[in-house]
Amino acid sequence: MTDSKNPQTLALHAGYRTDDATNAVAVPIYQTTSYQFDSADHASALFGLQELGNIYSRIMNPTNAVLEDRMTAIEGGAAALTVGSGQAASAMAIQNLASAGDNIVSSTDLYGGTWNLFANTLKAQGIEVRFVDPADPEAFRAATDDKTRAYYAETLPNPKLQVFPIAEVAAIGREMGVPLIMDNTAAPLLCRPFDHGAAIIVYSLTKYIGGHGTSIGGMIIDGGNFDWEANPERQPNLNTPDPNYHGAVWVDAVREMGPVAYIMRARTVLLRDLGAPLAPMNAFQIIQGLETLALRMREHCANADKVAAWLNDHPKVTSVTHPSLQDGEARRRANDYMPGGHGALLGFELAGGVEAGRAFIDKLEMLYHVANIGDARSLAIHPASTTHSQLTPEEQEATGVTPGYVRLSIGIEHVDDIIADLEQALG
Ligand code: PLP
Repeated sequence: MTDSKNPQTLALHAGYRTDDATNAVAVPIYQTTSYQFDSADHASALFGLQELGNIYSRIMNPTNAVLEDRMTAIEGGAAALTVGSGQAASAMAIQNLASAGDNIVSSTDLYGGTWNLFANTLKAQGIEVRFVDPADPEAFRAATDDKTRAYYAETLPNPKLQVFPIAEVAAIGREMGVPLIMDNTAAPLLCRPFDHGAAIIVYSLTKYIGGHGTSIGGMIIDGGNFDWEANPERQPNLNTPDPNYHGAVWVDAVREMGPVAYIMRARTVLLRDLGAPLAPMNAFQIIQGLETLALRMREHCANADKVAAWLNDHPKVTSVTHPSLQDGEARRRANDYMPGGHGALLGFELAGGVEAGRAFIDKLEMLYHVANIGDARSLAIHPASTTHSQLTPEEQEATGVTPGYVRLSIGIEHVDDIIADLEQALG
C-alpha cells in the first residue's frame, strides 16, 4: 500500500500489496462465483450490510475490488463499482438515481452509444433525458425541474472535442441538489473531475485504462463529495425506504461505512438485479493496463499534439479538431480541466467530403479501422457511416458529426510512422 498521491505510484500500489493466502505480488484472478460463509451469523451479517464481505461474484469479487480501490485512489473518490462495460456504467449511474417519471439533463456532446441509450432505451424505461448545449452552462439550470435527478456529460466529448465546463455545471447542480456525472473515458489522468465538483465519474475501462484492446469493462466511481441528504426530495432513491432492499434508507443504512450510499445502492440493488458484472479475468487484464496508464497517456498526448499540427498544415485538410488548436473559451476549458494534456482524440475534415473521408480510411495501412478509441495502437473511423449512423441527420449534427469528418485515436507508435501512414493515405 502507499500514502502517495501520485497517480503513477497509485496505479501500481493502491488497493493491494500481496495476496493474503499466497503472498503473490501480481493481483490474483479470483475466478470464483461464490464464497463460503464462516457461519450462519456471518452470512446474515453480510446480507444485512452489518458487515462488508464477499457473497457472490455478480455483486463483488476480490480481483475487481483491487481495480475499484485503485481507481478510487487515483481519482480521489470514496468508493467504486466495476461493471461489464462502459455502457453498463453509464446506464446504472443514472438508473441508480432516476426512476420512471424522473428526468436527467445531459450534454448533447456524447458518444453515439450513450446518445442511443439516453434518447431511446432510458426513454422507454420512463426516464426522460433533456439534452442541452454545453456551450452555455446555464442551459443545465434552465432544463432542471423538481424531477431532475442528475446532470450528465463527457469530459472530452468526441467528435466535438471541446472540453465540458465541469466546474460551472457542477456548481449549478450543487445549488439545485443535482449531482454531476462525468464520463471521463477520454481523459483519464488528464482530468480529475472530482477536483472540479463532479459527484460521480463513469469510465469505459475498455479504452485508455486497459489500453491493450483486449477487454471490455466499465466503472462507476463515487466522489463521496455530494450531500445526498441536503435535499432529500431531490434524491428519493437514497432517502426513502427502498423496497428493493427490505426498506433500507440508503443514506442511513451505510452511514457507518462513510459517504458511500450512492455506490452501495448501485452495487447491492442494480448490479444484483440487472447483473452486468465485470468478469475477474477482465479486471485482471485491465489492471495490467492501468499499471502503465501514466506512461501511455504522456505518449498519446505528445503524439496527438504533433499529428494535429501536421494535419493542420496539410493542403487537403480543411479543418482539424483538437484542443491544442483551439482558442477562446474552448481553450480556457481545456487548460483548466485537462491540465494533464490535450488528449489523443482528434478529428479532421477533408476537402472532398464523405467520399474523400471514406477513401482515406480505405487507404490506411498501419492505422486500424475500428469502432474503438484509446487503444495503444492508432485507430481511425468515419463516424457518420459507423458509430453515429443510427442517429438521425439532425442528431448527428447536434453531436458534431459532419458527413466528411474523420476521427483518429492517436496511439503510442513512433509519431513519424503515424504521420507517414496518414500522408500516404491522404495521397
Ligand atoms: N463512453 C465513451 C466516451 C465511449 O467512447 C464509449 C465507447 O466507445 C463508452 C462510453 C462505452 O463503453 P463500452 O464500449 O466499454 O461499453
